[in-house]
Amino acid sequence: MKRIAVFCGSNHGARPAYTAAARAVGELFAREGITTVYGGGSVGLMGELADAALASGGEVIGVIPRPLWDREVGHHGLTDLRIVESMHERKTLISALSDAFIALPGGLGTFEEIFEVWTWAQLGMHQKPLGFLNVDEYFSSLATFLDHANGEGFIRTEQRNVAIFESDPATMLQRFASYAPPAVRKWIDDSRT
Ligand code: AMP
Repeated sequence: MKRIAVFCGSNHGARPAYTAAARAVGELFAREGITTVYGGGSVGLMGELADAALASGGEVIGVIPRPLWDREVGHHGLTDLRIVESMHERKTLISALSDAFIALPGGLGTFEEIFEVWTWAQLGMHQKPLGFLNVDEYFSSLATFLDHANGEGFIRTEQRNVAIFESDPATMLQRFASYAPPAVRKWIDDSRT
């Protein structure tokens, strides 16, 4: 895998473990020669991730909408910075650039982004793996809820199983490498909504 997108909080969250995990992912990607693709900001876990990857000699591509440049304090030190006009463009470009997607702890923006790429997989728009890095059990109750939604007949089992829940980033990469996407009818048109 050449490039992996990371969606994560624009805040640091309540536990030092979240910052440590964001930095560990950036360092791991740099070591493995994987380019980090992310939202382009320098605040919260987003900034920690980018700074750690760059400090370890890694490449980082940031994709930030112009209207968010001030609010998310656009990062000036990235290998490649793409300024786009909308949130939709941001997600489309991040998705196109990346071979896989990881959510680290975060809030509504993080949820929205990882769920959208998951729905794109369900629609057959891509066959790339995606996962939730379960730092300090942050996503455990979400995994339980998704199992509930599966049991209640709203998420098919093969789709529920697309998302990998894993606490160790290196193991997540191994699971990405052996990922076998479910058979889904391919999206007929490549445009994203
Ligand atoms: P949060 O997890 O709420 O701290 O947000 C993390 C990142 O998600 C921030 O860069 C937000 O700008 C971004 N974000 C929030 N909503 C969207 C959206 N609809 N499309 C793309 N990115 C978003």
